[in-house]
Amino acid sequence: MRYCNRCLYPENHPLHLTFDEDGVCSGCRVHEEKDTLDWTARAERLEAILSRYRGKGDARYDCIVPVSGARDSYFIVDMVRRRFGMNPLLVSYNRQFNTPRGIRNLAYLRTIFDRDYMQLILAPDEVKAITRETIHRIGSMYWHVLAGQTVFPVQVAVRLKIPLIIWGAHQGIDQVGMYSHTDEVEMTRKYRCEHDLMGIEAEDLIDGTEGLHERDLVQLMYPHDRELARVGVRGIYLNNYLRWDSKRQHEDMIAAYDYESAAQQRTFDTYNDVDCQHYSGLHDQVKFLKWGYGKVTDHATREIRLRRMTREQGIEMVRRYADVEPRDKQAFLDWVGMSAADFDAAIDRFRDPRIWSLDNGTWTLRDSVLNHATDTAVEQARLTPAEPWHDFIVTGTRAPDEAEDEYVLMAKGYVPGVPAPTVVRPDTPTG
Ligand SMILES: [Zn+2]
Repeated sequence: MRYCNRCLYPENHPLHLTFDEDGVCSGCRVHEEKDTLDWTARAERLEAILSRYRGKGDARYDCIVPVSGARDSYFIVDMVRRRFGMNPLLVSYNRQFNTPRGIRNLAYLRTIFDRDYMQLILAPDEVKAITRETIHRIGSMYWHVLAGQTVFPVQVAVRLKIPLIIWGAHQGIDQVGMYSHTDEVEMTRKYRCEHDLMGIEAEDLIDGTEGLHERDLVQLMYPHDRELARVGVRGIYLNNYLRWDSKRQHEDMIAAYDYESAAQQRTFDTYNDVDCQHYSGLHDQVKFLKWGYGKVTDHATREIRLRRMTREQGIEMVRRYADVEPRDKQAFLDWVGMSAADFDAAIDRFRDPRIWSLDNGTWTLRDSVLNHATDTAVEQARLTPAEPWHDFIVTGTRAPDEAEDEYVLMAKGYVPGVPAPTVVRPDTPTG
């Protein structure tokens, strides 16, 4: 397997990488723009876009900001509201796997900025059926989350006639350099389907092994082009206009607003995914089982490119976290209603043969970045350090003294162990 001489990415990255003659990947090359572009001028371009929407008419909102209990949400709202003076409606899709800390972060976020907030929580049994379908179909336990969080804001935009959606970082730019920052790419149905959703639209899940109908999936369907055109919906990404540095942004938000961080199971980044029970646990192990690397590689790569971490430090992080067994697997299996054997067999079907081989019933990793610490061209590709490394902060908690369950359940996506009632009247009248 070929690995980038600068960062830790392998050539089988699912968003696709290209390598230049120095063996440096497209993600690293586009990332160099963060140190060469005129970010003052780029922020002025953002202001020029926002000024066309700001405070228009009597509308209560002039934009939508998708948020969660983590992942730069504080930074995005702080920029949009405080620095650029917009009136955002905050929206989120409930991923059902919330942590108390994520719920607190979200509750404080909408309170601190005093914004209206809308959330979509899908019916629990339906989400489980959708999740079983996507585990079997594409080896993904997280498809419903990716589908929901990329479409609910768009549906709200159409429904409430709010034409502008403001997202944080575009992963095609920040991770793999699919586009330059100066391309100023915007939200599209095509990118969402091909990359966010791994090529599977909600419509594709109809009539599979779970017997899902269109009515089970409408909340995850992208609005028709005609509806988008009628409102003039567009989605812009802030990382095209602001020099994106997730670690620094979170540390600013910890200092300004007491954003809560937390230690994560399979990575050293204690900021990005503290709102999800599975993201840095089982979900990340599934990523590793498919592609031979996990989130720790994404996070170390990001820090190497921002010139805080050396490639060698990054490899040490991979060594420390790549094989950690997630503690949340049984909780997920109980929730989704699958045995470990069925789940493992479903995931094994999607292991990338470029990095995994099956020998006498045992899966073996054919290669790893750990074997590429001293490749000959690594020195030549090295960046000069910009700032000394310091560990990600683990903050204290803002949990109140009373028993947490009493307020957590108000926002959590489901209540464990509650049986569904017997349906007295069928959905469709008969006779
Ligand atoms: Zn690279």
